[in-house]
Amino acid sequence: MKPPLPALLALLASGAAAPAFADSCKLSIDANDLMQYSQRQLEAPASCTDIELTLRHVGKLAANVMGHNWVLTRGRDATAVANQGAAAGLPHDFLPAKDGRIIAATKIIGGGEATTTTFSTSGMKPEEDYVYFCSAPGHIAVMKGKFILKR
Ligand code: ZN
Repeated sequence: MKPPLPALLALLASGAAAPAFADSCKLSIDANDLMQYSQRQLEAPASCTDIELTLRHVGKLAANVMGHNWVLTRGRDATAVANQGAAAGLPHDFLPAKDGRIIAATKIIGGGEATTTTFSTSGMKPEEDYVYFCSAPGHIAVMKGKFILKR
């Protein structure tokens, strides 16, 4: 027996027909007005060719007061990229321009906003040490976490 057409359309609209394996390649993390991320660690399977990361700012403060972004680098590059990003300023989303050390980065967002970035895992290795952080001035001290590419 075929399902009635409206039910079928509703199922398709809900995204239920998307392959289940793709879900583990989509990550999300929240940031708030207390300069905190909701997670200290994020992980995705190395089988993901691309990873989609959504950052939500669940606070109320504006981007020029308590703006946040999400930046991914190797662990050894994090501090230098954060420092140079802070110096670049808000108009540049606190990111150094065309910096090959940045694997992925979102723009800076304020309270109530969300942003998504998609990045390729082609140059990444499961054994490497990766760190994500917010590059707004001083935020890396607390807004930092470990990114794991699982074998
Ligand atoms: Zn921040």
